[in-house]
Amino acid sequence: MQVQNDSGCSWINDLNPRTNINSLLSNEECDWLIIGAGYTGLSAARKLGQINSNLKIILADAQLAGEGASGRNSGYLVDTTLNDGFTSNKELQNYKKKADIYSLGIDVVKKFIKEHQVDCDWNESGKYFASSKVEDKKILENFSNTLSKLGFEHSLLGNKELSEKLGTSFYNIGLYTKGGILLHPGKLVRAMIEALPSNVILYENSCLLNWSKNKNFIFCNFKNGIIKSKNIIFATNGFLKSLGIKSNYNFPITLTASMTRRLSEEEFKSIGKPKEWGVLPVKPMGATIRMTKDRRILIRNTAEVYNPYKMSQSELYKRSLKQETGIKKRFPQLEDNIIQSTWSGIVSRSRNSSQIFEKLDENVFAAGCYNGSGIGVGTLFGEQIAIKATNESTKEIEIIESRNKPTWLPPDPFLSLFVKLRLSFERYKAQTEI
Ligand SMILES: Cc1cc2nc3c(=O)[nH]c(=O)nc-3n(C[C@H](O)[C@H](O)[C@H](O)COP(=O)(O)OP(=O)(O)OC[C@H]3O[C@@H](n4cnc5c(N)ncnc54)[C@H](O)[C@@H]3O)c2cc1C
Repeated sequence: MQVQNDSGCSWINDLNPRTNINSLLSNEECDWLIIGAGYTGLSAARKLGQINSNLKIILADAQLAGEGASGRNSGYLVDTTLNDGFTSNKELQNYKKKADIYSLGIDVVKKFIKEHQVDCDWNESGKYFASSKVEDKKILENFSNTLSKLGFEHSLLGNKELSEKLGTSFYNIGLYTKGGILLHPGKLVRAMIEALPSNVILYENSCLLNWSKNKNFIFCNFKNGIIKSKNIIFATNGFLKSLGIKSNYNFPITLTASMTRRLSEEEFKSIGKPKEWGVLPVKPMGATIRMTKDRRILIRNTAEVYNPYKMSQSELYKRSLKQETGIKKRFPQLEDNIIQSTWSGIVSRSRNSSQIFEKLDENVFAAGCYNGSGIGVGTLFGEQIAIKATNESTKEIEIIESRNKPTWLPPDPFLSLFVKLRLSFERYKAQTEI
């Protein structure tokens, strides 16, 4: 097993290359071992380091820290996601629990950036859910109903208002929610690396190959050494399943995204000089598309069952063509070959959209499976799993644990087959929206 990212992500390439990168080269012992250095693992390490300043904490990642999904996502820190209407109060209550977790996630990221004076292009711009299909009005009206019941400020918009705000006449119906933040995911995760307490040792390019528990210790085998730890937290999200964690409750999905170069002054003028915005699709397989603060367009319009360890350049290229089509549909006046970079990333999904936040065994913990919304929830779950692992309780843990747990999934090959069929069906329904 080798986890290897492509090097094409604009968000990551915006940042200065890091120095002082250490890998595990010998055997080590520690009190705490955290596997995975994305938002979840970095937040768990930060919190543990604060709580236990005298203990030895190791954080290990198969690649460079923060360069998995955490540094390569679309940068929507969401307060709500689209659920089109409810048939019962129970479902409404479930939605509220999910939204409560999102709200805690926003709070914890906000607190982090305030405490550490982080510049991550934070913009409380709100976000749009939009579609080119007028028939989707029904879905948005149902959603609006839900949002009203739960007190989320929002408004329904038609083609004219959307065109003015977004600079494209592609969308005919939309819903704007005032909550929700757009940010630069690479800058946020880089700040989390820089904020690691001094008692956290970070090993990068150090892939956990397998692990076992024997009495009071966990033994973890890496290519160049073994770590013997008293406690372990798994924070590998899309790779939880590959390490045997909650294998029948989550599965990886590969997403690809592209970013254009910066639009020229004339190009920007041609689309009406809109302010920064973010649009999420009404149909799940439609495009997520964003105009960044510095006038680049980001688009993500694929989600698939694919070898999660790496996507080849030729496969990325195929997907970038689909992303160029998505951009040209919305902005036909822009020239071809405007895409500057295309990359892939892995997320973890569950059947019922619930997350994993658990003590799996004595001294063994896991957090992840954010169903594509892990910026806030990952940061929250990372901090809170560290607190739970030290036997403390908080109101946040109560809220997290009051949510339904992920439901059982059949083993492969049935699962992959079922997911592929489902994604194809959703893709068909969203074919106008890519
Ligand atoms: C294209 C894309 C767009 C997205 N858009 C959004 C969005 O707009 N908003 C949002 O909230 N979320 C979004 N997401 C999801 C979000 O990025 C994730 O939910 C979040 O990054 C999860 O953080 P994490 O720390 O749990 O996992 P990750 O960031 O995936 O970190 C896990 C780490 O574990 C490491 N690892 C894996 N296996 C091993 C091993 N065996 N040994 C050691 N280390 C290992 C990996 O290298 C990785 O760095 C998007 C994701 C993608 C890919």
